[in-house]
Amino acid sequence: MIGGMRPDRRPDRLAALRRRLGERGVDALLVTHLPNIRYLTGFSGSAGMLLVDAERSVLVTDSRYSIQAPAEAHGAAAVEIEPVNLWDRLRLVLTGRGVRSLGFESDRLTVSGAERLQGVWPGRLEPVVGTVEELRAVKDAGEIEAIRQAVALAQEALAVVLETIRVGQTERQIAARLEAELRGRGGEWHPFPTIVGSGPRTALPHAEASNRVVGAGDLLLLDFGARLEGYCSDLTRTVVVGADPTDRQREVHGAVLGAQRAAFAALAAGRTGSEVDEATRSALAGAGFGAGIRHSTGHGIGLELHEEPRLARSVDNPVYPGAVVTVEPGVYLEGWGGIRIEDDVVVRAGGAEYLSAPSHELLVVR
Ligand code: ZN
Ligand code: ZN
Repeated sequence: MIGGMRPDRRPDRLAALRRRLGERGVDALLVTHLPNIRYLTGFSGSAGMLLVDAERSVLVTDSRYSIQAPAEAHGAAAVEIEPVNLWDRLRLVLTGRGVRSLGFESDRLTVSGAERLQGVWPGRLEPVVGTVEELRAVKDAGEIEAIRQAVALAQEALAVVLETIRVGQTERQIAARLEAELRGRGGEWHPFPTIVGSGPRTALPHAEASNRVVGAGDLLLLDFGARLEGYCSDLTRTVVVGADPTDRQREVHGAVLGAQRAAFAALAAGRTGSEVDEATRSALAGAGFGAGIRHSTGHGIGLELHEEPRLARSVDNPVYPGAVVTVEPGVYLEGWGGIRIEDDVVVRAGGAEYLSAPSHELLVVR
């Protein structure tokens, strides 16, 4: 959200992080998770470490980013370009800063990374989990707008591709056209490998597109997204190809749609992640499809495809206003197939709002 006419939120984010570090009793945090670095500084490169203490933030990265890093991180972090070894440079950056306890992202750093950190900094290391992620879970207006545009791009690409789908095409051919439309319409990249499953393969919640040929009357499940300004969208549509839907297909689709509406209502009411998840589970169980559930209801989206908050059984926190989440119930029946409907939703103080145009009926493409 740097540049353009949008306000620069990085100083606020760094200030909020510093307050949290104070509450956790650490003098500084070493941020190694790249989406967290991007959120705090704007740097979008593939390698780097960010040290944030009470006064300064310093981004250490390598010489491939000698032009990009100062341009992107300008105004948020000083940049140190290191041609040989980032850890050695980190040692120099830490020297003489008066840091007594250094927090590190223990859920992000590898074991060997933690060993190298210990090698360059012998002081007290404090594992810190989820601090930047908690900030990222509440989106500002600019972030919500970026996701809204990524959703719109994905929906436009799908509308074009649905017109071209015919019996006799393979899943990979359909995936290729969808990815070409996503990219051709200005998408930065695909946030995840496009899922296209057909026929009985739709019973696999994460079917990789195969060379299976789509037959008349097959279910076709497409799960895909776009990325804009680093922000992801994530949508799933399940359609029927080349024939009128069967009663069973209509029945399962209706149950999944009902589950999605139940989840949306629970989100609008400010319930916890587990309560929203329970809303879909009980709706599907009530329709007789409880045994077809294979995954939880949804996940936050943002700079990452899967982030906080989760709409899952284990989550007891309320879903706070500013969260952007997917709502993606599905029913999967081995040997028959599966139906998932996934939309993207922003949670507001006054209730939830769809960022995507939700589907209402089982679409047929011919
Ligand atoms: Zn998805
Ligand atoms: Zn998803």
